Amino acid sequence: MAPSQTPGSNSLKRRGLMFVLSSPSGAGKTTIARRLLAEDDEIAMSVSVTTRPMRPGEVEGRDYQFADRARFDAMVEANEFLEWAEVFGNCYGTPKAQIKAGLREGQDFLFDIDWQGTQQLYQRMETDVVRVFLLPPSIEELEQRLRGRGTDSEEVIEGRMARAKAEISHWDGYDYVVINDDVEACFGKVRAILDAERLRRARQTGLVDFARNLMR
Ligand code: 5GP
Repeated sequence: MAPSQTPGSNSLKRRGLMFVLSSPSGAGKTTIARRLLAEDDEIAMSVSVTTRPMRPGEVEGRDYQFADRARFDAMVEANEFLEWAEVFGNCYGTPKAQIKAGLREGQDFLFDIDWQGTQQLYQRMETDVVRVFLLPPSIEELEQRLRGRGTDSEEVIEGRMARAKAEISHWDGYDYVVINDDVEACFGKVRAILDAERLRRARQTGLVDFARNLMR
């Protein structure tokens, strides 16, 4: 068997995992997620379906599958989602088929979903789900990051801060919590979690034959 190119995996056949990375906005989730996807060829983004309008720069099928409400409701009705939730007035859902097939093939998926979706995913697919939450080092630091270039009104900033605090309140629904005080260190910790989770005995479906051969 060819050795895996990814340092965190054995070369044995294994089941993929669902890696949920959540954080309040401004805690660095996007940077960490992009880097993970760029550097690790065993993990792919789970592309959600959403009813919200496409934003400039977004690409259909890469960022989201964009759907109208009727189409979304039909998918809910047909039980095509692993989880779905309404977030800030729009619907978002994780389509089931692609994920289930991928997991069987050893494909890992990265999820950028909210805490409600994370709960549903965990209830349905507990052993496949790894939940990681990123926190900012302090509320002052978060505010500084959310202020960005300083062009937004005080009201907009306050709205963002209130949303961030609401998101932070769900920290205890996660398996791992990483404080992002340094991007490099934070990335290293997230990598370590992914590497260790890949080595869980139950995910390594090729172990039975491998161990049997070793003991012959
Ligand atoms: P945005 O519209 O800014 O891309 O995303 C808004 C929120 O929806 C974010 O908190 C994001 O994590 C969440 N979200 C995106 N896709 C899904 C999904 O498939 N399921 C759930 N539950 N939340 C999602």
